[in-house]
Amino acid sequence: MSINPNTEPSATPPKGEEIYTPREVAHRLNLSVESLRLYEREGLLVPLKLDSGHRRYTDSDIEWITCIQKQIHENKLNFAGIRYILSMLPCHEMKPCCLEDYQTCPAGDRSCRPCWDFDDTPCRNKGENCRTCVVYQQVLNVENLKKILSVKFKCD
Ligand code: SF4
Repeated sequence: MSINPNTEPSATPPKGEEIYTPREVAHRLNLSVESLRLYEREGLLVPLKLDSGHRRYTDSDIEWITCIQKQIHENKLNFAGIRYILSMLPCHEMKPCCLEDYQTCPAGDRSCRPCWDFDDTPCRNKGENCRTCVVYQQVLNVENLKKILSVKFKCD
């Protein structure tokens, strides 16, 4: 899998939020900086990227990374399993996108990967940045993410 395409340096640090370097996050969560890069390559994480190209993480990212670790180590999910769960986020309803975009989007109903793991979605082609998108923002709001996915599972 290629490195997540949606990490272009267009996101600015959120006002008033602490941001942390990869090394600080790794130290705090007792994991390696390489693991952070791996989560990103596997499409689970879209870090903040500064104009310099350096990656930064917020407290919300740290909460999400903790959740990823829990899925791997306690719930025994692999990366594909986590991607599959994230693929159930109804991005076309959350944005929302027009019917034409939805019908041509590779991240449609049959996808097993979250939309931000594709580089050829209609919104990507319009230059949208997943880090700031309403869909990815749900991932950074872990409690809300659980609610959205549980509703989706109950409806299926
Ligand atoms: S901008 Fe990115 S996160 Fe938002 S719907 Fe499009 S692919 Fe998904």
